[in-house]
Amino acid sequence: MKVFCPKCLAGEEIVIPDFSDTFKLELSQMAPDRLLYAVKLLVDTYSISHRDAKYIVYHINLAYGKCNRCKYNFLDGEYINCPKCGSLNFNWEITRRVVEQ
Ligand SMILES: [Zn+2]
Ligand SMILES: [Zn+2]
Repeated sequence: MKVFCPKCLAGEEIVIPDFSDTFKLELSQMAPDRLLYAVKLLVDTYSISHRDAKYIVYHINLAYGKCNRCKYNFLDGEYINCPKCGSLNFNWEITRRVVEQ
């Protein structure tokens, strides 16, 4: 699927792979502490460019439902542009499930 963030890469669209739940979980646990590993994992697993991998990692939500940029707290949907600041968020359901366990 294609995603778009008006705040990054001059608003260029990025094609992202269809991630498995296991991979999403692994990735969101890595980012942001081990940013470089997360980027490398993406590049190695999905053969995408380093630039796109970095873009993906930067947009993974630190907390489910919460915009990384403006801290708006009610994001609903997995790949969503924040209604407040427009910034793209990878608001993966998998992270919510982990938080609620
Ligand atoms: Zn962005
Ligand atoms: Zn926002």
